[in-house]
Order: sequence, then structure tokens, then C-alpha cells
Amino acid sequence: MGALSLSGVSKSWGAVTAVSDLSLDFPEGQLTALLGPSGCGKTTLLRMIAGLEAPSRGRVLLDGADITDRPAHVRRFGMVFQSFALFPHLSVAENVAYALAIAGMARRDRLAKAEALLALVQLDGYGDRRIGQLSGGQRQRVAIARALAQEPSVFLLDEPMSALDAKLREEMQVELRLLQQKLRVTTIVVTHDQREAMTMADRIVVMNRGEIEQVGPPQEVYDRPATAFVAGFIGKANILHGEARGGAVAAHGALFHPERPAAFRDGSPVTLACRPEAVRLGRAAREGANQLAARVSFVRDVGPTREIFLDAGPATLTAELGAGEREPFSVGEPVFAELPPAALRLFPRAA
Ligand code: ATP
Repeated sequence: MGALSLSGVSKSWGAVTAVSDLSLDFPEGQLTALLGPSGCGKTTLLRMIAGLEAPSRGRVLLDGADITDRPAHVRRFGMVFQSFALFPHLSVAENVAYALAIAGMARRDRLAKAEALLALVQLDGYGDRRIGQLSGGQRQRVAIARALAQEPSVFLLDEPMSALDAKLREEMQVELRLLQQKLRVTTIVVTHDQREAMTMADRIVVMNRGEIEQVGPPQEVYDRPATAFVAGFIGKANILHGEARGGAVAAHGALFHPERPAAFRDGSPVTLACRPEAVRLGRAAREGANQLAARVSFVRDVGPTREIFLDAGPATLTAELGAGEREPFSVGEPVFAELPPAALRLFPRAA
């Protein structure tokens, strides 16, 4: 059990609308990431699912039953917050067993269960410690174990990695995903970090200004962004603004031909996106090659790849070259940046 649905859910405070008429299914046993920039409404959405915030409109359904008016403590969803919100005066085991104590489970049983949960999150033998004696990563595991104590049908996490340093964050993303796959619990993770979402999620929901921009598996959202916003938010994208011309896009004095002619009316405004790893750099102009004349403004070596930053008149572009194609382009050098037809994504743009 644990199939969750939202139907026409909105949340406003006066003139501020945090979530706007949003309908969405969270399939049972899957991990869904709510991804978007600060203020896009993801925490508000999670809080409505948790029962901590009442929707202004719309319904929340669990396995088909309307739970919109069911208080949070009755929903009994597992929750992990940014701050972990652990009790410093209790031991690790008592923290994990806290909800079981409230539910009236006998002391011996709940401590045995806490020990099993601590083993699940690789903290065997830490039960007697105080929270203050744990590292950030260990605290996070305690928060996860505590949230899982009541065997929740839905597991909700709000920016669960934000208190951890970069290396630990990456490790915990993998650990949490493996744990979720083992338990098969319906899980929703709020994050503004696209790498985190791509590492952990079966499906990513990209949000912007209280609305959904796209829902899909990570690779699909990356390869086929539905909007220019998604293209720029999931991974990096070079964005050029131009206008449609005979199935191609005229931008910055060049004509860019997509793989298949685009169905835009001539003269209508079009945004064009291309991943940095798809950009090819050359020293010669080639007729009809989707090229833009540019000058190298900065070169950044980041281990396995090299990023070449380019000035192309008012446009700036980035090309990412892999280990096998490390031509020594140098700062100030004039080059031609080629955006291959298959790598071009075209989106309509408000005039
Ligand atoms: P962040 O990543 O920064 O936490 P978020 O995507 O989780 O952002 P929310 O916290 O859901 O965004 O906020 C969405 C919008 O609703 C913001 O404009 C915020 O200022 C507003 N908001 C949130 N809570 C309230 C409240 N209690 N009263 C009024 N406005 C609120």
C-alpha cells in the first residue's frame, strides 16, 4: 500500500500562491523527487502531503481514500527534515523508538526494534550514544531510522542531505536509494539539487512557480526536456534566443537547423537549447554547420572533462570536452562553436 495522488491541489496565503492546481500520482513503491528552485512550492507541496498544511483547494488521496482532512499524526507518514529534528536529551535508540513509545509498544520490544532499524541504516551498536556524539551523516541515519520505525506507507524527506558536506551527501544519496529499493516504500524527496534527484529518483517532478514543468524518469527529463526551463535546470544548457526561419532558427547572426524542420511560424520567437557536452569546437568555418563564431574566454579543467567558456557576441556558451578530445584551446583564441542538429532542442518563447 502507499499509492498517493493529488487532485487539483492549490495553496495560497493571501496574494501568494505557493502551489497552483496541481494533479499528480506517486506510484506505490517508487521514489519521486520534487525538484525546483527556491520558492517554487516544493516544501509546501510536501507539507500538504504530510498533513502539516491544509490545501486551499483540491484533494490528497492514499490508495484511493480521501485523506485531505486526516491530521498528520493519523496519516503516520515517515518524515525526515533538513534539520533532522532529533531529541538531544534522548539516546540514539530512544530517538529511533520514540514513535513506538507514543504508540504504546513495550520498552523491550521497541528497543529491540530500534536496534534492528539501526542495523538497517548501518549504525549497529550506536543505540546508547547521545545525539551530540554523532557525526552529521550518522545523525541523518538516525533520523531515517526514526522515520521508518512505524513502517510508514509513505516516506517523506525534505532536503534530507542539505546539512551534509558534498562527499557525504553523495554517499548518503546512494545509501538512501538502496535502502528505499530494499524496503519498496513510496518515497517523496524534496530537493533543489538536480544531481541528487537524478541519483535517487525513479521519477523527477520538475516544479517552477507552483506548477509542474515536467514529470518523467531522470534520463528522459535530461534527454528530452519539455521546456527551456527544464533544459536549463536539469544539467547545463546553452540557451540562445532567436526566431523561426524556414524550419530553422536564426539567432545571433547564424542559422541553426534542427534534425527535423521545426514547425514554427516564420518570425515567431524561439528558444534554442544545447548541452555543453554536445557542442563541438573547431578552428575553421564550415558552410551550413550550425556554427557560431566565438572567442574562448576561460578554460576550466575539472578532472575528467574540460569546460571551455565562449563569448559569442551577446551570447555566452560553454563547451564540455571529454578526456579523448582535449584540444589545447587557449583563452582569447577565435573558434567556431558547432551545435549539432541532433543536439538542438527548440522551445516556443513568449514574445
Ligand atoms: P525552498 O527550496 O527555498 O525551501 P520551496 O520550493 O520549498 O523553496 P516553499 O517553501 O514551498 O518553496 O514556498 C513557496 C512560496 O510560498 C514562497 O514564495 C514562500 O515565500 C511562500 N510561503 C511558504 N510558506 C508560507 C507561509 N506560511 N505564508 C506565506 N507564504 C508562504
